[in-house]
Amino acid sequence: MEDIKVAARSLMEFLDQSPVNFLAVKTVRKHLDENGFKVLDPREQWNLQPGGRYYMVKNSSAVFAFVVSTEGAASGFRIISAHSDSPCLRIKPKAEMLCEGGIVKLNVEVYGGPILYTWFDRPLSIAGRVVLRSDDPLNPRTEILKFDRPLLTIPHLPIHFNRAVNDGNSLSKQKDMLPVVAIVKDATEKDNLLLRTVADALGCQCDDILDFDLSLYDTTPACLVGLDDEFLTSGRLDDLSMVHAAMNALLETSSTAQTRVMAIFDNEETGSGTKQGAASPVLMQLLRRIVACLGGGEEEYLRGIDKSFMISADNAHAFHPNYPEKYDPTNHPKVGGGPVIKINANCKYMTDAESASIFRSICEKAGVPCQYFVNHSDVAGGSTLGNILTSQIDLRGVDMGEAIWAMHSIRETMATADHAYTIKAFKTFFDL
Ligand code: ZN
Repeated sequence: MEDIKVAARSLMEFLDQSPVNFLAVKTVRKHLDENGFKVLDPREQWNLQPGGRYYMVKNSSAVFAFVVSTEGAASGFRIISAHSDSPCLRIKPKAEMLCEGGIVKLNVEVYGGPILYTWFDRPLSIAGRVVLRSDDPLNPRTEILKFDRPLLTIPHLPIHFNRAVNDGNSLSKQKDMLPVVAIVKDATEKDNLLLRTVADALGCQCDDILDFDLSLYDTTPACLVGLDDEFLTSGRLDDLSMVHAAMNALLETSSTAQTRVMAIFDNEETGSGTKQGAASPVLMQLLRRIVACLGGGEEEYLRGIDKSFMISADNAHAFHPNYPEKYDPTNHPKVGGGPVIKINANCKYMTDAESASIFRSICEKAGVPCQYFVNHSDVAGGSTLGNILTSQIDLRGVDMGEAIWAMHSIRETMATADHAYTIKAFKTFFDL
């Protein structure tokens, strides 16, 4: 029981520190730094030592950490992958829009596939990356920024103006989802309002700011819910709960039989098609580079890949008691039932009978329950990292996740117990 509470508290702290992808990577980096991992500059020559702990950051929004095997260049890899991004509202350039009464709203666009109406009437704030001028135009400076206090909200239309709102309410991303941020006394105050706020926070001039990747987030912290704290509710459980579990497993295991890798990609929610996404060669090149640094060549790399295994960790849909008809009649994971193996006949997941069996054996060894998710055959379902990665690297692996409710809502819910189960399974995998 104590394990469950400890894991949940640690996860909630991690979630609150990680409101968007850039902050998630910053939080992971802090833990890696505190645990003796050395950051590697991709532009420099790497000098890796067997047993050494290292990490590489891509675009400030993806991070790849590893502990080098002591068994040589062809020993292979144990990989856990997850993603740093979650659906949200991203601020457009020239975002300020002056409205009647001096009200300023911000122009935003939708990132990924959020459940839009869950974003209304919340105390929202801003976080992300700001790019600043430097002496070298090809290498501007980057600052990671998080406003802690609420700065914005998206007020809903009153029910009196749309009596049918509870019968289904279609939303325009451009009209309905724009947050209000201020009331100004005269029109000129609106100009550069956001940039001035950001410059104040960073202690720089507006002119220093070249561009930004800033998004909105819900400032409501993660919390436990239920008569016996059975549930954990927060934004971004998909997929930061898996990032947190992977990170804990990497930090708290010691095996060097194979190189242990934690691969946290960005942009899964938009199809992974960026240089820091799972469809890019970033992981394949990292693995090749590790082998090369250990004195191996193509032969050692290929032998190693054949011995390797990946857990592609991305959350799954938990059985919802209000909608039993949406689920497969015999394979619907329950919150609290342990890690979920995801299977799809049309190979949207990388899981097959062999890799599912391997993950089941890992859970058995860890002493945790595990369960299966298969889509109701009339429901299309989603995709994830695993099979996208196998287009770059012909790895064996399993797609799995924690069972959550309300995937892509501004707040998702899971069972408190499941997180401790997942961490145990991941540790067992790394320590096999
Ligand atoms: Zn996900």
